[in-house]
Amino acid sequence: MTTFLIVDDIEVNLYMLKMLFEGHGYKVFQARNGVEALQIAQENPPDIIVSDILMPGMDGFALCREWKQDDILKKIPFVFYTATYTEPKDEEFALSLGAERFLIKPMETELLVKAIKEVLADYEAGELVVSVEPQEESTEYLQEYNEVLFRKLEQKVEQLEEINHALNEEIEVRKEIESALRDSEQQYSLLFNGMSDAFTLYEVIVDDKGLPHDYRFIKANAAFESLIGLKTNDVMGKTIRESLPALETRYLILFQDIVLTGQAERFEIYIPELDKYFEMLAFCPRENQFATIFFDTTERRRKKQFELEYEQLKASFSKERERNTLVQQIIAMLSHDLRTPLSVISTSKDMLKKYFDKLSVEKREEKFKTIESQIRFVLELLDDTVQMIRGNTGDVQLVPKTVNLLTLCKIIVEDMSDTYGADHQLAVIQSREQDFAILDETLISRIIMNLLTNAIKYSAAGSEIRLELDENDEWIIIQVVDKGIGISADDLPYIFDPLYRMDSTKHLPGSGLGLSIVKDCVERHHGRISIESVVGEGSTFIVELPIIDG
Ligand code: ADP
Repeated sequence: MTTFLIVDDIEVNLYMLKMLFEGHGYKVFQARNGVEALQIAQENPPDIIVSDILMPGMDGFALCREWKQDDILKKIPFVFYTATYTEPKDEEFALSLGAERFLIKPMETELLVKAIKEVLADYEAGELVVSVEPQEESTEYLQEYNEVLFRKLEQKVEQLEEINHALNEEIEVRKEIESALRDSEQQYSLLFNGMSDAFTLYEVIVDDKGLPHDYRFIKANAAFESLIGLKTNDVMGKTIRESLPALETRYLILFQDIVLTGQAERFEIYIPELDKYFEMLAFCPRENQFATIFFDTTERRRKKQFELEYEQLKASFSKERERNTLVQQIIAMLSHDLRTPLSVISTSKDMLKKYFDKLSVEKREEKFKTIESQIRFVLELLDDTVQMIRGNTGDVQLVPKTVNLLTLCKIIVEDMSDTYGADHQLAVIQSREQDFAILDETLISRIIMNLLTNAIKYSAAGSEIRLELDENDEWIIIQVVDKGIGISADDLPYIFDPLYRMDSTKHLPGSGLGLSIVKDCVERHHGRISIESVVGEGSTFIVELPIIDG
């Protein structure tokens, strides 16, 4: 059986050749380089050798040269089968070494087999001429061998340079891409963490029916922590339903709509766990993701609420002031109307006193009747006036509600300063821990307004007037402190009586009804009022109203 020795350092090439030749009924030996090939051949000389050129250890050229210098092997045909050395000069050199054929890979298997068979036929026919004589390491051979190797080396260097160049270009491109990436990453991170609005990204969790049901935190920026007051690490991996169980269902329905339609929505949201309002933009940045951008609107909302309350208080106070002015006018009218009947009574009384003995019984009777009818008239007038005042001041039931007492006091003081007290120094002093209280806004306005009007009226221009707010366990305490003329101990017991005025103040405008209205309002509020006063030094009116729990 014809035996083949195939030499190649690449395993798969060896395998392919082995399969091919064995398929054609040859016996095949294999070697992986020149040294191995020589050993095998010297032990079992084959009928033909098919060798690659570029191999480690001993290459194909060196093997061929050894082969053709061996007395036994030199008669065995040597075929080169190469993919690396493919130039005519390579073939020339190969043949000069005594090789029978120089075949270039890859070859169609049919043609390869055909070529090998031809060599074998020549060999069997004895036509194989060993053209290379055994020789020394001739300079010519070495020169040619070196040239071939050098050419190959040059090619390899060229190839390597090309590869190197391409690699360098690729490295440059990569560097540019990396730096662009770094830049954009930096910009993104600056934007992401520098924005004052909070940003959160969620993974959408669907229910059995495939509908968006909950949202798992996967990312949040720095503003998230400062706005929400929660650590990102504490919420990461948790869902909205887990971390905000008190969130109203309508928001979850809205989130579901946004994910299903892909349409972004802007809305205000209240988070009970934080007791905060946020303006939120919710959207889907990509499939299965849900994101929100939001900022805290609690302060803005509270300010708005406060402004609204302030406006309401101001409006109701100005209504109250109008009523008070009306009452003043009614009282002025009353004092005018009272003058005529009172002077008739006075004249009749003087006549009776002076001329009682000289007057006839009929005349006396007539004077008494005049006095009686004028008194009735006065009483009717007073009755009508009280009715009128009651009608205008709204004699209604106590209606306690939550009022910002501090703001109300400030509004009244501001208004009083503008109207009457420009020459006085009016101040509101808050000693309560909170601004709100549950009380009747109308009654409280009337009380404070009347006490402040008196404090202004009965103290010198430029003096200080304080409206102080305080409280203890049971009472809200409102004090109006002035440094005015004061009230004597003789006047104090009557000071709240309707129409009572101190002699010392009778020359000043007034009706003597203000304090009785104050007392009425305090009593309707189930409170109490007291006075501390020193003549010439000033007065303090102390109003105590029971605290009503909300
Ligand atoms: P009016 O002020 O219209 O006279 P009031 O009922 O408000 O009526 O007051 C009754 C009287 O009490 C006043 O006339 C005045 O003599 C006295 N009075 C009220 N407030 C003060 C005060 N702060 N300082 C001194 N006297 C006052």
